Amino acid sequence: TSFEELGLIPPLLARLTELEYQQPTPIQAQAIPSVLAGRDLIAGANTGSGKTATFALPLLQQLHAEKSSGSKNREGNYATGLVLVPTRELAKQVADSIRSYAVHFNGAIKTVAVFGGVSVNTQMQALRGGTDILVATPGRLLDLISSNAIKLDMIKTLVLDEADRMLSLGFAEELSALLALMPNKSGRKPKQILLFSATFPEQVKALTAELLNDPVEIQV
Ligand code: AMP
Repeated sequence: TSFEELGLIPPLLARLTELEYQQPTPIQAQAIPSVLAGRDLIAGANTGSGKTATFALPLLQQLHAEKSSGSKNREGNYATGLVLVPTRELAKQVADSIRSYAVHFNGAIKTVAVFGGVSVNTQMQALRGGTDILVATPGRLLDLISSNAIKLDMIKTLVLDEADRMLSLGFAEELSALLALMPNKSGRKPKQILLFSATFPEQVKALTAELLNDPVEIQV
């Protein structure tokens, strides 16, 4: 399979060529078409599998399509796509990858990373006017929401990256609190939820059962 065959658009394909990604990894080949089609996803995948691109490329493509179709965005302190991660290192790394994949959108898609352990002021400033994609650790995100720096009411896509680590690090309560702040029409949360986890202990299984709607399941 080639990246073209997965349904990705030229600005992303051009970037993948520059990055010398010759072909999709197994998780990318299996998941990207379904994610582009709007399906929920449960992916059993480790670091090194290419999981970041599996959610980042479709997320960028969807946001780009919405912006090109003229639907307004980035008004007020809203985020549209949210990637929750367990650690600050991962937050930085994921945001860097997303920005790298997005270079041919010429700044049209804004990505902000927020995480604990550093001053909150710079992050508050970065969030002014909202962001298209927010990559966040749960605790710092809750702090920023309390101070009205960002709102989750407009989240369309939620990615839970390394869900098992997020729960084993004790973020279950933060996660519930965050989910309660996302769009909630008829009890259904964001339009699309993608969950990545290396392992599937009971806690993660319970989360997937609660959150995901008819998900595609992939194990690599
Ligand atoms: P990840 O599993 O998302 O942490 O990605 C692991 C590494 O693989 C990162 O350095 C990516 O840039 C790289 N990578 C992801 N997808 C591909 C691909 N299809 N071809 C070559 N390298 C890739």
